[in-house]
Amino acid sequence: MKREFQVQRSKFQVHCLLAALCCILIVSLLSCSFKKDQIYRKTMILMDTLITINVVSDSSDKASKAMDRAFDEIGKLDKLLNFFSSSSELSMINRNAGISAVKVSPETLEVIEDAIFVSEKTGGAFDSTIGPEISLWDFHTRKMPDDKTVKERLPLVDYKLIRIDRNKSTVYLEKKGMLIDLGAIAKGYAADKAVEELKRQGITSGLVSCAGDIRAFGLKPDGKPWKIGIKNPRPANKEDEIMATVGLSDMAISTSGDYERFFISNGRRYHHILDPKTGYSAEGCRSVTVIARYGFQTDAFSTGVFVLGPRKGMELLRQMGFEGVIVDKDGGIETTPGLKGRIEFKGNN
Ligand code: AMP
Ligand code: MG
Repeated sequence: MKREFQVQRSKFQVHCLLAALCCILIVSLLSCSFKKDQIYRKTMILMDTLITINVVSDSSDKASKAMDRAFDEIGKLDKLLNFFSSSSELSMINRNAGISAVKVSPETLEVIEDAIFVSEKTGGAFDSTIGPEISLWDFHTRKMPDDKTVKERLPLVDYKLIRIDRNKSTVYLEKKGMLIDLGAIAKGYAADKAVEELKRQGITSGLVSCAGDIRAFGLKPDGKPWKIGIKNPRPANKEDEIMATVGLSDMAISTSGDYERFFISNGRRYHHILDPKTGYSAEGCRSVTVIARYGFQTDAFSTGVFVLGPRKGMELLRQMGFEGVIVDKDGGIETTPGLKGRIEFKGNN
């Protein structure tokens, strides 16, 4: 009798336990459904440009902390790679051109190796040793160099004269006067590093925009890809005008354009994308948009393809398996086949 009572008591205890577990489950499911994913956004000026991070999260604290960490990452790169700051590792490399190899951090080494890779793929149309030429120009004050100086400096522009020693983590520029300028790759590379950091912080969806170099991952809370606008290089009025939009997830996009920094003199447009063969602005395109996996790729290849011009540029995009849109010097628009159906052009073009 006593034994029977004990069995019934333990059965009752098991039932109670199950009921309690059910309650906990229901409460936690309910609290989950109340926490809604939202887009959180922060903007900062770093790398001499406006950087915006959007993340999807169910917690503003978590989103804020993750974005701060990503901005720290970009700030760190800014300190290493800034062309104008005398304390950056990049300036140390440039100051020691023709003198000695400089020991650098893994990030500086990696981005310079990436730049060399893109130079090889573009046959030198992208060349981060463009520094001695680009520093002759000021597109804001309309400063134009004389032809003799432009020609004299051309031998200093050659990515093959960058010596990397991976084991020692050093970079050496072979000729005195050489200058590496990472202006066409660093922002895309920074977007990549920021996304890596956001993912480390547990964020599964977001968008990092370093000016025109953008990397998207995951989907928006509505389950749709991130929608990115591509600027019209010749807007009807002075405002920014979108020429087309494209939906992106887990991809990067960059646009290089002759409208970003330029002046017009004697009917000719002088802008900030230089042909390393001539030292003068590249002339075949108005803008080039590239879509690929990584920001360093889209940033650097959009510049390289711009220099190559529409025909060779399209061919290179095909070879690399990248997508893109090229607006040529006369306003003609060409799109890679893979983008058809994914890109939406506005009526005003
Ligand atoms: P982006 O706006 O990304 O096309 O980069 C343009 C910037 O990259 C310029 O302001 C220069 O600092 C640098 N640059 C200009 N021409 C070249 C080139 N052919 N290859 C690599 N960097 C370049
Ligand atoms: Mg670029």
